[in-house]
Amino acid sequence: KFINIIDKKNNSINGFLEVKGEEALSQAQNIDSKIASGEKVGSLAGLVFGIKANINVSDFTISAASKTLENYIGSYDAAVIENIKKEDGIIIGITNMDEFAAGSSTETSYFGTTDNPAAPGHVPGGSSGGSAAAIASGMCDIALGSDTGGSIRNPASHCGVIGFKPTYGAVSRQGLLDLSMSLDQIGPLSNDISGIAISLNTLIANDPLDCTSLKWKSPDFTKALENTPEDKIKGKKIAICKQFREVTDDNINNIIDKQIDKLTDNGAELVEVSFDYIDICLPTYYLINYVEFFSSTRKYDGRKYGYKIEEACGDEVLRRIKMGSYISQQEFSGKYYKKALQARSLIRTEINKLLKDVDLIVGPTVPKLPHKIGEKLEPMEMYAYDVLTVIANLAGIPAGSIKAGQHNGIPVGLQIQAKPQDDYKIIEAMDAVE
Ligand code: GLN
Repeated sequence: KFINIIDKKNNSINGFLEVKGEEALSQAQNIDSKIASGEKVGSLAGLVFGIKANINVSDFTISAASKTLENYIGSYDAAVIENIKKEDGIIIGITNMDEFAAGSSTETSYFGTTDNPAAPGHVPGGSSGGSAAAIASGMCDIALGSDTGGSIRNPASHCGVIGFKPTYGAVSRQGLLDLSMSLDQIGPLSNDISGIAISLNTLIANDPLDCTSLKWKSPDFTKALENTPEDKIKGKKIAICKQFREVTDDNINNIIDKQIDKLTDNGAELVEVSFDYIDICLPTYYLINYVEFFSSTRKYDGRKYGYKIEEACGDEVLRRIKMGSYISQQEFSGKYYKKALQARSLIRTEINKLLKDVDLIVGPTVPKLPHKIGEKLEPMEMYAYDVLTVIANLAGIPAGSIKAGQHNGIPVGLQIQAKPQDDYKIIEAMDAVE
């Protein structure tokens, strides 16, 4: 089924950069015959995955949608891929993205942009736009994305699918081509919560090869789908934040309000909170991102992997490399990066303080609707898409986005955030509003 849909739609959508349909089919047939002969199969048996082009999968081209790595073939499986394969998940192909995950529209891909299947002619969001579009157009069951400042949740919101960024450290980053290692987290996108829940059971695992990996005996996320919406939500304290509203398009706020009503109708207690640091979130995020990205790209010097990055990359990646190199110079020591780290710890403390008294923070995922493909945005306009999503990365907390409704046919996402390792509560709440 998926091979047919990809054949029909991928030319125009450009969600997948590479597809291995035959291999996927023969794996599926293998699993079928295992089942037929009564053999035990893994928990992801028969589920078909698309993988973002910055996660190593052996024998696929892992280009991070950059000319720099256009000929780089994955020589090993990232930890998440090993785990998916162990559980009999089937990998059908590699999805499009912004170059090195630096973007919010998938327009910076060296291999051309991805169309938004839910709102054709508009950007699908980014940077995991190929993953979100693959899900929205029915090309696979589950797609992996990476989320450094919103790259799973932003395209999930724009394409009307579900996207989930787990608690920082819950999912191994080993094998991910990092954008900003202290913020990056791999997570799933799907059309239904069961796809998110079942994949989290496999994705969340301790990994000694990732020094930030948590030792967490995580719950069975599929259990969050049992019970009625009321059972899940009754008595939960849910916070809305006036600063989130203020930065958001009114049409989006109105759609979000209806979802919040659904939660209160099911017995949630609503509280209004204030988050006074919203103005420093984007500068803090981008300073850290520039410096960490600059550092991580030093290995792309043209000797071991592909081309020298400065000679092969696009404008946005070059901007980050130059800025990262500039602000991390010794003479600026303490002026930019250190300030950003201090600001980050302030943001983190404040968010954790808010979350002490409530179970969840709910609000819009993205403050504005996606622009039309090709419309020229200034860098600051592009960065403005991220103001509500970077908070979770800076604070290391889990956050999910689920379709809340649509404005003029364009999907709008509801974002739900929780304390570190309260990922389960987000799954429950998303299931209650679905
Ligand atoms: N849009 C943000 C950026 O450009 C987030 C990217 C991401 O999460 N990978 O950095």
